[in-house]
Amino acid sequence: MLLKINEYIGDFTGLVYPKICYACGKVLHYDEDIVCTICLYELPLTNLHNEFDNRLSRLFWGRVPLEGVTALFYFQKGCKVQKLIHEFKYRGKREIGIYAGKLLASILSGSGKWKEPEIVLPVPLHPKKERQRGFNQGEYFAIGLSKGMGIKLSTNNLIRKFHSESQTSKSRFMRWKNVETVYHIKDPGKFRGKDLLLVDDVITTGSTIEACSQRLLEIGGTRLWVASMAIAS
Ligand SMILES: [Zn+2]
Repeated sequence: MLLKINEYIGDFTGLVYPKICYACGKVLHYDEDIVCTICLYELPLTNLHNEFDNRLSRLFWGRVPLEGVTALFYFQKGCKVQKLIHEFKYRGKREIGIYAGKLLASILSGSGKWKEPEIVLPVPLHPKKERQRGFNQGEYFAIGLSKGMGIKLSTNNLIRKFHSESQTSKSRFMRWKNVETVYHIKDPGKFRGKDLLLVDDVITTGSTIEACSQRLLEIGGTRLWVASMAIAS
């Protein structure tokens, strides 16, 4: 009976404010959230966490030693994942990041392949960019992972130290040097001896993750896992 009432109320509020699937735009059923059941079935999961040696972990070989690297989705131009990321990053739908984090958390805990880290932290966004966008997208992905895994969230210990100039006019080496010096850890004691999960929304070249990882691994006894919401397929 209770279920019936909930169903009725859900459908009624749905008539007033219909919830839309962020991936395909169709109206969601009362028991669906963020994406519809069909899209959830169709979204391309990477399942890279099943292989220690995978295409994303290989990106960091010889750069930083990581315990595990994975991404939730593959994306390509015009696909549903790209639509989700667009709604998330550029239209401020923070709930998409939280949803993705929870989804990855449930996949990881069900796999038994990943040791659960103790603290999850997002790559800090350039302060100017965060002001423009109004939020750090990686932080919302981290919130979802923190809730889903039942682990701590840290958003203010790994920080960007100062504003960097425009990157486009610099050489590749200078860009890399610039990225390297930009991250800083305020209180290394909070991370010492911990298993950390560093996250970002999308990994492309891996240079940001590499720079943050170097700082985090300089602290004694840290072990580092990396996860992103999506990578290009
Ligand atoms: Zn859909």
